[in-house]
Amino acid sequence: MTDQLEPMPDDWQRALAIVAHPDDLEYGCAAAVATWTDGGREVSYLIATRGEAGIDSLEPGKAGPLREREERASAAVVGVTNVEFLDHADGVIEYGVALRRDLAAAIRRHRPELVLTLNYDDTWSGTYWNTPDHRAVGRAVMDAVGDAGNRWIFPDTDAAPWDGVRWIAVTGTDSPTHATDATDGLERGVRSLLEHRAYIEALTTEDPETYARNLLEGFAREQGKHFGNRPAVTFRLFPR
Ligand SMILES: [Zn+2]
Repeated sequence: MTDQLEPMPDDWQRALAIVAHPDDLEYGCAAAVATWTDGGREVSYLIATRGEAGIDSLEPGKAGPLREREERASAAVVGVTNVEFLDHADGVIEYGVALRRDLAAAIRRHRPELVLTLNYDDTWSGTYWNTPDHRAVGRAVMDAVGDAGNRWIFPDTDAAPWDGVRWIAVTGTDSPTHATDATDGLERGVRSLLEHRAYIEALTTEDPETYARNLLEGFAREQGKHFGNRPAVTFRLFPR
């Protein structure tokens, strides 16, 4: 990690965040989203699955619709009203042309300047093995941004090619380059994660609010060490 991180670019209007599961954006990134939507920017979410395999005690047919509702409520807390779901299967998303095509079609439809995704490295901090879905979706996002701009790749999508993505920002990575000050968005970030109440209650016996607050305040404080000790959300930024 570099010693001090650069501030995230702010000369943009539209962002599209693409992740595998409901909750992926709420484990840290939503505080940054809140600050961006406060500034009048439009952020949309595209979730590759409905997270239907995410709750051991709840069968997928019930968990999927529940988690979709929780994700829409989470998004609303940070000013995001446009939430779309693809129908890839939770836990067994395949990296490949079909996934790239779905993501490129969405990028063409949304025409974002900034695309966000989640850590797709093998591990979290070199310690915890990452999930196959995060690896597949993150890598496909990186590739689909290029695909979206090339009219000869996936020429039959409804929307026209879009080559206007200026940056891809990856959150949750070990090697961040940029950060957003999360001071103003942190409280809404906590409430956004708390909307995943059924998921959290199945995950931990801790009080959900204590769990969400301790976790996110801890992340923001840790990441802020490299951003002037302000609470921060960090990203690895890939310019294009
Ligand atoms: Zn996930």
